[in-house]
Amino acid sequence: MGYAPQAVIDHAALRHNLQQVRRSASASRIWSVIKANAYGHGIERVARALLNTDGFAVARIDEALNLRQGGFDHPIMIMGGCYTQEALMLAARNGFEVTVHDNQQLSLFDALSLGTHTLTVWLKVDTGMHRLGFPLDHIDQIINRLRALSCVKQLNLMTHLANADDRGDSATQTQLAHFDSLPLHAFSQCSIANSAGVLGFRESHRDWVRPGIMLYGVSPFVGSSADDEGLQPVMTLRSRVIAVRQCQQGDRVGYGGAYECPEAMPVVVVAAGYGDGYPRHAVEGTPVLVEGRRLPLIGRVSMDMITLDARNYPSVKVGDEVVLWGRGLPVEEVAQKAGTIGYELLCGVTSRVNFIDQNVDEDKEV
Ligand SMILES: *Cc1c(COP(=O)(O)O)cnc(C)c1O
Repeated sequence: MGYAPQAVIDHAALRHNLQQVRRSASASRIWSVIKANAYGHGIERVARALLNTDGFAVARIDEALNLRQGGFDHPIMIMGGCYTQEALMLAARNGFEVTVHDNQQLSLFDALSLGTHTLTVWLKVDTGMHRLGFPLDHIDQIINRLRALSCVKQLNLMTHLANADDRGDSATQTQLAHFDSLPLHAFSQCSIANSAGVLGFRESHRDWVRPGIMLYGVSPFVGSSADDEGLQPVMTLRSRVIAVRQCQQGDRVGYGGAYECPEAMPVVVVAAGYGDGYPRHAVEGTPVLVEGRRLPLIGRVSMDMITLDARNYPSVKVGDEVVLWGRGLPVEEVAQKAGTIGYELLCGVTSRVNFIDQNVDEDKEV
């Protein structure tokens, strides 16, 4: 390991977390959500670790094409649907399942129906999130339109939950009630649940669940940890100590002199910064693990470096191993200190960070 950040991706943890989805939603099939380069982990390596899934869900057609070209012949759903005729044709040719969330997308299916291609369509209904999806009172009419199209091989129904990260929020029950007010018999398959739905709302499971963040070992709930939910962190972002300084009382550390040493103290410099995806907004006191000890962040986060208060680990030395998040330090905790969520930190690890695969031996062959 060099003196630069590395993202270690634990395939055994991915397989374990998929197993946790199976345990929680044993009657449902699983769309493993691997959009955004598998939440920053790398789409191909993650897909390889999750071959036991029933299908893969992505946001955009390019992600779906990547997977197919990588040799994955699973069902693949494009959750954002298609926006051009060419994209829809490509989707049909590759056997992708696509959502349709508005009339503009729907009109693309008219032209496709002039040919011989068919595909499975997921009608997306807005049950309360007010982002994508047809309004509830348009659904009858849209069902009729889709049924008249020869390119629609199978018609399914999906919605997305806005507030399921809070187990006590009644908005989820309202969304489920809206979903159940629809003519569900008109659809072959239904899907509602994201990770929070999988773990927190059994009634949301239906035919297919769509977990994302839990596969990566992060709790989808505010105020619960991955450990509480039986999940194992997949990404460990690690680096090394590159300098140890003995500072004097009153010395100011880093850009803007944002931290002033209250006494003579050891200050540690770690090779990791916002140029690697470590959040620049992490506040003073954000924990960082050095050889397993929690040291508080001090001063501003630089592009390539951070500085830590090493008073409770005076024997710290250059080369000591550092964990920015992952095993032993939940990414949720770091995210909270930076005013964001684990999802954003995982997605934001930059391309100069080396990715290393761990425990790949039990992955199956593609
Ligand atoms: C991203 C996404 C998911 C997965 O959400 P998590 O909170 O990561 O489990 C499920 N469904 C849709 C439509 C999504 O966009």
